[in-house]
Amino acid sequence: MGRPAWVEMCVLPTVLLVSVGGTVAAVRAGLNEVVAVGGTTLLAGVGLTVAQWWTSQDRAGFVAHFAREAGTDLLHLVVSNGVVNATFKTLAFAALLALAAHTTGVWWPHEWPLLVQLAIAMVAGEAAFYTAHRLAHEVPLLWRVHAVHHSSEQLTVLSSGRNHPLNALVSYAAQALPALFLGAGPEVLVALSVFTTVHGMFQHVDLRLRFGPLNKVFATSVVHHWHHSAVPSEGNSNYGSNLVLFDLLFGTWRVPEGGERPARLGLDSLRLPRSYLAHLVVPFRWARFQVSSAEPGVPELRQE
Ligand SMILES: [Zn+2]
Repeated sequence: MGRPAWVEMCVLPTVLLVSVGGTVAAVRAGLNEVVAVGGTTLLAGVGLTVAQWWTSQDRAGFVAHFAREAGTDLLHLVVSNGVVNATFKTLAFAALLALAAHTTGVWWPHEWPLLVQLAIAMVAGEAAFYTAHRLAHEVPLLWRVHAVHHSSEQLTVLSSGRNHPLNALVSYAAQALPALFLGAGPEVLVALSVFTTVHGMFQHVDLRLRFGPLNKVFATSVVHHWHHSAVPSEGNSNYGSNLVLFDLLFGTWRVPEGGERPARLGLDSLRLPRSYLAHLVVPFRWARFQVSSAEPGVPELRQE
């Protein structure tokens, strides 16, 4: 109470600017790129977790949930995201970079300010991500792979990394490849990586902030929590990762007036065990995890 709305609206842009600016400055100063991005991710993750605990209306409940889910989510973070993406980057990026070399520098505005180049890279990545994400919700076979991401009933910084490895791979490629092929330089790719990672953690943490008009620009935590609603008609919306541009263009942006949050998060149609290995087999043993009482509504329940 009493905190001006504009102060709350400054939090997200400030965190993003500091994260991207700090990482780029560190890389320019000679710090290894992986170390710089990893360090920023760790700092932002710890900071957001403390902030979530601090602002939580049920701190004991938050701690209990975090402790219960952290093991599985850390495995997702390290293996599903880290190892898979690093392998893809190592094996495929060199070849893709060679392919992209024909376009690199042809028209990409290398001389423009970094933030403008980052915005172009984000819009390009968002177009691919929006398409892939929406298909993952609307094509039943793809939904089997994506459903794991929606299985959390409370969202923390680690929830952003809860992805089946196939899901993580597609998300990573969708975000990074358009900019790569359009000829963006390494610094832009670092900035895009940091922005996407920190924003991804921020949008899964509900710090009870008011975002005002930013909800029409970024996929804020208010926007993204509606995407994680347990009610299918609410969750089949807000597919944007960083930006809501394509949700606005295609009519899938949904945030109720007043900025309230969904009543429940998670999935009613699916019961997943907590173990990481079980999450890996979900797409291939789909029927085993269905909630039978929800059968009559399955077509409707297949959502996000
Ligand atoms: Zn989704």
